[in-house]
Amino acid sequence: MRQPINIPTDGSGTMMLMPAREGTCEICATAHKPELPHNAQSLFYQTRFNIEHGRAPDWRDAMAHCSDEMRALWTEQLTARGVDVEGGAINPAKTARKAR
Ligand SMILES: [Zn+2]
Repeated sequence: MRQPINIPTDGSGTMMLMPAREGTCEICATAHKPELPHNAQSLFYQTRFNIEHGRAPDWRDAMAHCSDEMRALWTEQLTARGVDVEGGAINPAKTARKAR
């Protein structure tokens, strides 16, 4: 039976969170290879990161464990899709749509 896991907070103490589904990354609850970024859009990732660090994560956090090459590739591809990676955006800017 699955048991909640205790996550250390950035202050003092811990918070409980149900573990990620089996077969998925324990950090972001998404199935991905270890060398790839965590899923910054995952609610599980956002919740867990916030418990541990006391702030919301963005793609730079999700890519922190990746190689320089992997980070460069993902930043390029996310930027091409309208995501302001260096600005801390998770999703494409809504203003990318044409107004008229
Ligand atoms: Zn992950």
